[in-house]
Order: sequence, then structure tokens, then C-alpha cells
Amino acid sequence: MPWNRPLIIGFLLVVLTLTWWRLQPDGEEVRRSRIIMGTVVEIMAAGQSNEALEAAVEAAFAEMERLDKLLSRYNADSEVSRLSQSTNGGEVSLSTAEVLTLGLAISQKSGGAFDMTLGKLKALWDFDKEAPTLPNAAELSAALSGIGPKALSLDGQQLRKASPQLQLDLGGIAKGYAVDRAIAILKQHGVANAAVNAGGDMYLLGQRPERAWRIGIQHPRDEKDVLETVQISNRAVVTSGDYERYFEKDGVRYHHIFDPQTGMPARQCQSVTIVTDSVALGDALATAVFVLGPKAGLTLLEQFPQAEGLVIAADGSRHVSVGWVSYQVVP
Ligand code: AMP
Ligand code: MG
Repeated sequence: MPWNRPLIIGFLLVVLTLTWWRLQPDGEEVRRSRIIMGTVVEIMAAGQSNEALEAAVEAAFAEMERLDKLLSRYNADSEVSRLSQSTNGGEVSLSTAEVLTLGLAISQKSGGAFDMTLGKLKALWDFDKEAPTLPNAAELSAALSGIGPKALSLDGQQLRKASPQLQLDLGGIAKGYAVDRAIAILKQHGVANAAVNAGGDMYLLGQRPERAWRIGIQHPRDEKDVLETVQISNRAVVTSGDYERYFEKDGVRYHHIFDPQTGMPARQCQSVTIVTDSVALGDALATAVFVLGPKAGLTLLEQFPQAEGLVIAADGSRHVSVGWVSYQVVP
């Protein structure tokens, strides 16, 4: 059939319509939240098919729940609990090995500021108790005995721990790893634009409709106030703060990020925010930098060219890594 003008115009219209359709921001949006790893996890995914998005989000939550069962010290059957109860370690799953490998690297690079052997100390302080109390010196030294980066080693999937008493706590890295895995599952389902937030451990995939993701970083002393805003895409943003879990006694704030040298809450920071390419790395680094304080913490970050950080020190002063400015939205 010869091409005539109405046919050509019709054909062009179809092409133009399809192009327009493809250039449109994702039409559908699914937002769901669940409590996993003791925190509210929110997943937002955008795309063309509501059904496909629902399936992707459900699969991402299922992966996070699987990891919670594996890595939680609150679940007596978890792999972490089994290792804590073991005499000298044992074989671990691939997921646990991946978390431990990264955690041990950060532990070593931070000179032990990041430490996954603080299980006993965490139980001693017990911030989940209704009325937490201060441990005494004897209790602290018992909880710190034998801990440290050298007390754990991993050979493939074989974990060795230095003493039967050593208790693991992956609370400073597990949430971040779970968010990374949720993002990987969303991508496997073809999702290109999404946000996953597990209580301040976030990954922003692609962009939100029509523009890059913007994240407000909470003021550590005023929860309604945004300290500053970053604009990012395909990046993790992780914050560790002394305002997340704490109690006050005689005017002193006691919070859940410990200095492994003393067993006391680390004193040099109010909050640390890290922007980097993986949430697990950001999670471990945020905790490590918090313990090290602004000066040594920012020196640690120099070893990670893919990571930038914002530190609010104990006196409220602001410290940033050199590349932080590239993410900052100037009002
Ligand atoms: P985050 O909110 O990521 O800084 O993690 C804080 C959690 O990590 C605490 O609730 C503990 O379970 C654990 N933790 C506390 N201090 C340390 C530390 N120095 N190194 C590694 N994990 C820690
Ligand atoms: Mg952390």
C-alpha cells in the first residue's frame, strides 16, 4: 500500500505519543511502611504499573525481614545469636559474611572505633528498658573484657571468635545492609526510581518525579528543624545521632553509640551524616565517625573517596569533608 499523507501523519502521531509517554515521569507511586529491625522502614517506588510496583515493594520488604531474622541479636534463633552462644564461632551464611567482611574492614580502618563485639555492653546498658540505669565500673570492665577488632576474624564463611563469652552486635551496620538489599531487589524488579528509609538509613534511587531527591537532615537538638538539605541520586544518606536512643540523668545525656575504649556513650558528636554509594558502608562509617569525633572522623573519611560527611560536634559546631558541598542545597 502506498504511503499517503494521512497515514504518515497518523504514524508520526503514534511515534510522538509513545515518545511523550516514555518521557513522562513515572505515573504510579506506591508507598508502604513496616516495622523491621526495631524501626519504621518506608519504601516508596515509582513506575508505570501499580501491580508491578506492589510486587517489587513486597519482595523488598520480604528480603529485609529475612535479614532481620539472620542478623538480629533480639531473635534467639538468628545467626548472630547462634554465633554469640557458640564457643569459637562457626559457619555463616553469605549475607552475614558480607556484613561481617565490611564491618571488620571499617573496624580495622577506624582503629576499633567501629566494633561489632559490643554485644555484652549493649545488653548491659539496655536502652530498651523502661528505666535504664548507669552501669558501674566493674560491670563496664566485665562487658569490655576481650572485645575489639582482633576478637573476630572471617575466613570465607567461617567466623572465628576469640572467646566463648564474646557477644556480637551488628546494630551499627545491619540496617544499612538491609536497605542496600531492598534497593537491589527493587532494581531486579525493574524499578528505577525509589526511596528506602530505615529510621535514618536511606538510599535514593533515580529521582523523584521531575527532580532529584532532596533530603532534609534533622537538627540534632530540634527535631522539627532541618539543619541542611542535600540533593542526591543513586546514593545512600545515613545519620547517626545521640538523639535516637537516649536517657538523661543528672543533666547528662546517655545514648546508644559507645566508645569501645571506655564502654561509655561517645562524647564528641551530636550527629554525623554520611553520603556514599552503599548504605551499609554509610551506616558503619557514620557510627565510626561519631565515635572518633570531628577531627579523627573526617580523617578516616579521607580514606573513602566515595564518602562525604557532615559532623555536628558536641559543642554544636559544624564540620564537613571537602566534597560535602557538592551535595548541599544552598537555600
Ligand atoms: P547507628 O545508629 O548506626 O550509629 O548504630 C548504633 C547501634 O550500633 C547501637 O544501638 C549499637 O547496637 C551499635 N553500636 C554502638 N556503638 C557501636 C560502636 N562503637 N561500633 C559499632 N556498633 C556500635
Ligand atoms: Mg551505623
